[in-house]
Amino acid sequence: MKEALFYTKEKDGAVRCAICQRRCMISEGKRGYCWTRFNKDGRLYSLTYGRVATLAISPIEKKPLYHFYPASRWLSLGSLGCNFRCPGCQNWEIAHRKIDEKATGTEFLSPEEAVRMAKNSGCKGISWTYNEPTLWFEYTLESAKLAHQEGLLTNYVTNGSITPEALDRIGPYLDAFRVDIKGFSEETYRKFANLDDFEGILKVTRRAKENWGMWVEIVTNVTPTFNDSETELRGIADWIVRDLGLETPWHITRFFPHLDLASLEPTPVRTLEKARQIGLGAGLKFVYLGNVAGHPGENTYCPKCETLLIKRSGLSATQILLENGKCPKCKNLIPGHF
Ligand SMILES: [Zn+2]
Repeated sequence: MKEALFYTKEKDGAVRCAICQRRCMISEGKRGYCWTRFNKDGRLYSLTYGRVATLAISPIEKKPLYHFYPASRWLSLGSLGCNFRCPGCQNWEIAHRKIDEKATGTEFLSPEEAVRMAKNSGCKGISWTYNEPTLWFEYTLESAKLAHQEGLLTNYVTNGSITPEALDRIGPYLDAFRVDIKGFSEETYRKFANLDDFEGILKVTRRAKENWGMWVEIVTNVTPTFNDSETELRGIADWIVRDLGLETPWHITRFFPHLDLASLEPTPVRTLEKARQIGLGAGLKFVYLGNVAGHPGENTYCPKCETLLIKRSGLSATQILLENGKCPKCKNLIPGHF
C-alpha cells in the first residue's frame, strides 16, 4: 500500500479523496467508489501502486491516437478498478473487479522496471490504458517523470475525470491525452457512468491541451439508444471545435453488444457514417471511424487536397505517406506529432 496523493482529512477519521472528480468522502476502513483507495486509520492509501493487471506492447493506433507518432510501439499498462463502471465496458474483468488489499490478479512492476522494459523493447514510451489511469496516479506520476528523464514519452487513455489539481501535477510529464467523451447530456453520463456532472470532464480535457500542451484526441463509442442521437453527437462535435480546435481528431467507434448491454444491436455503419458527417459538418478536419475494418473512415486524408496520407487497417497503420508531417502533394502541414 502506498499513501495517496490529493486527499484531505475530515471529521471522525474520514478523508476526502481528490484524485478524480467524484471526490469521494471515505470513512475509516472503507474504500472509494473505485475500490482502489482505502482509508486506513484516517489515512488514504492506493491499493494498486505498481500493480499491473494487463501488460502489452502495442501500436499507438490501438489507443487510438492517430496523429501522435503513427505506427510507434508503446509499453501499455493497466491495473484494476474504475471510477465509472459503464454497463457495456470492454475491460470489465479488470475494471469492475472488487479489489482486495493484496490486489490479487496483478504483478508488481516498479517505475524503474517499466521504463527499462519500454526502452529495451524499442518503445516510444509508456501508455497507461485498459483501466482508468487516474486511479493509480501515484504510480503513473513517478513513472512518467522517470520516463521523461530517460527520453521516453507518455500518454493517458482516460475518461477525463481526473481533478484539475491532479492533472496539474502530472501535466509536465504527460505528452498525450486520449479522452472518452461518452455523450453530451447529464442523462447519458448518468446512464453510462453514474455521474451527475460531465462539465468537469470537458474542462479538464481543455486544460490538458491549453495549460500543458498535451496532444489531445477524443473517442466516442456510439451506442444505439444511448448516445446516437443527432443532438448528442452534434453537441460533442461542436464542443471539440469550440474548446479544442478543429484540428483535433475525433474517433467515432462502433459499439458491439457486451456485458449489461448484450441485448443491443451493434451500431449500424450508417449511424457511424452519419456521425462522421456531423463531425465534418461542424468543421472538424479529422473524423475517424473505429471498429469498422476496411472502411475508408480509418484513413487520414489531407483536408486540403484529399490525398491519402495514412492508410490503416484494423488498428495498425499500414502505409504512411506523409513527408515531414506534410501532405506530399500540396505540402499542407498536418496537425499532430509525426
Ligand atoms: Zn494535400
